[in-house]
Amino acid sequence: MIGTGNDGNAQGVDLDQVQDQVKTLFKNIPNNISLVLFTTPGVNDVFANACRQVIRAFRELSPRIDLKEFDTGHKEAKKRGITQSPTLLINPDTYNIKWYGAPVGEESKTFAEAVIIAGYGETGMGSEAAKVLSRIKEKRDIKVFVSPTCPYCPQQAVNALKAAIMRPDIISLEIIDIQANQDLARKYEAQSVPQVYANEKLIAMGAQPEELFMSSLEKMEQQSVYIPEDDAEEVEADLVVIGGGPAGLTAGIYGARSGLNTVIIEKDSLGGQIASTPSVENFPGLTQIGGKALVDLMVSHALEYVKIYPGEEVMKIEPGEPAVVVTNRRKFKTKTVLLATGARHRHLDVPGENSLSGHGVSYCSTCDGPIFKGKKVIMAGGGDSAVTEALHLNNIGVDVTLVHRRDKLRAQDHLVKKLEENQIPVIYNAEITEITGKGKVEKVNLFHNDTKKKSSIKADGVFISIGYSPSVELAKQTGVELTDDGYIKHDEKHRTNIKGIYSAGDVEGGYKQIVTAAGHGSEAALAIFEDLVNPYWKKEDK
Ligand code: NAP
Repeated sequence: MIGTGNDGNAQGVDLDQVQDQVKTLFKNIPNNISLVLFTTPGVNDVFANACRQVIRAFRELSPRIDLKEFDTGHKEAKKRGITQSPTLLINPDTYNIKWYGAPVGEESKTFAEAVIIAGYGETGMGSEAAKVLSRIKEKRDIKVFVSPTCPYCPQQAVNALKAAIMRPDIISLEIIDIQANQDLARKYEAQSVPQVYANEKLIAMGAQPEELFMSSLEKMEQQSVYIPEDDAEEVEADLVVIGGGPAGLTAGIYGARSGLNTVIIEKDSLGGQIASTPSVENFPGLTQIGGKALVDLMVSHALEYVKIYPGEEVMKIEPGEPAVVVTNRRKFKTKTVLLATGARHRHLDVPGENSLSGHGVSYCSTCDGPIFKGKKVIMAGGGDSAVTEALHLNNIGVDVTLVHRRDKLRAQDHLVKKLEENQIPVIYNAEITEITGKGKVEKVNLFHNDTKKKSSIKADGVFISIGYSPSVELAKQTGVELTDDGYIKHDEKHRTNIKGIYSAGDVEGGYKQIVTAAGHGSEAALAIFEDLVNPYWKKEDK
């Protein structure tokens, strides 16, 4: 994720240089890191071997990493209460951290962070989050459920790691890979990831910024807002881009390349919706690419020029000269703001959808799909996303049926053909009216629009992929005008009704393609540059 190279082309990122930087980082680790792996031969061997391979690769990078291995029948396992295979402990004499499963896929990022944090003895935790953590006086036993295919999981697992490393006196941590530990996932009904339990109570679903994680841990329930204290740091910029999806990342690149001091703020996962898209087709130059792989290319490219503030939430924008953007961590004083806040999953709004969310109802097939391997799920929707995700689920061994409200799919022809080739059943003219189950999804009730009859299907999960609604709360709160359809109203230069505030991407409506979002991001950044050189508002004021 570190951007290097100077040719302005993501494909031109100098991977050798990146590798050298990573190698140097690991080579210079000052502290010894003791890893202890417990395995039971014949149980989860694939994960145990993957674990050994990952550790071997890390040991090649740093002589500080030491590995001891024991059978789960060994007295060392009994002493430490280990029963799951594989279980990996990190510095067990200092921290109480257990990793159940193998740190592969997205989770290898969490493991790399764990090694760096333990090796350098510094968590890099922000001061606000550290303040909250220091207030916790009681014991907290944390469980974080993750999956190697979940792009949101590392953020939350690293939050928990930081807490466990900073407060080993009261905090213990278990990182649980749901693929290797389906028994534990079932026991906790963890059917979406990431999910965090503390002292056996569910305290967070989804990834959170550091402060919100620590706040949830302090208050023992999910927190959604964190207000920083008044002495927050101030950063000056020419352009603050809010949103790190394709529009925001491209605007960042173009803004910085035009000579503007540009920053990007993103509260969730960088890449926006694409981060959780199994497969992206027809981004020019790439016939087909995994969503996360495309995000990594874009982020690497943006990082060559722009400072990105990830996991940071904008609480308020005060328009003016300069405008002030207040986040949960600091204040930005800036000449211009670009709203590239994107869109978020639309909900069916039927009974059972909210109460069973995370317990069989999911909006992310790449994150939660593996939990349903060999099980029956419903995919709601008829567009490119629903079809792409149904194909992905089918591909990983999930028994998926598509339910669409009309008699024809909206998705592109070649995707529909693939659906047919893979013999994925489609129930047409059907609307989901209710999702039922005790603690987890068991049944889906349907209303058939053509026959006006009702029916129900047994299902272990429901994936909902029925399009997106624009994320306009911040725009509304700032006084930015919206269109009748609820998108940001803007002119051809992406200017909104407020001086110095612009928009780009899905939040503006129109064709919702990655390539159009990126195009509009570049247009907006170029317009902002021109406006700063030659302000349109000064001409209007005359
Ligand atoms: P979409 O194209 O807006 O399709 C949403 C689907 O959900 C439609 O079939 C719609 O039904 C259905 N729907 C909406 N509200 C519903 C409700 N309340 N109950 C039941 N069904 C409902 O959204 P999308 O599939 O997420 O795609 C978004 C954009 O991303 C599109 O522009 C798409 O082309 C793009 N995309 C591209 C790729 C790629 O690889 N190139 C992959 C994925 C997505 P109706 O058909 O009846 O309206």
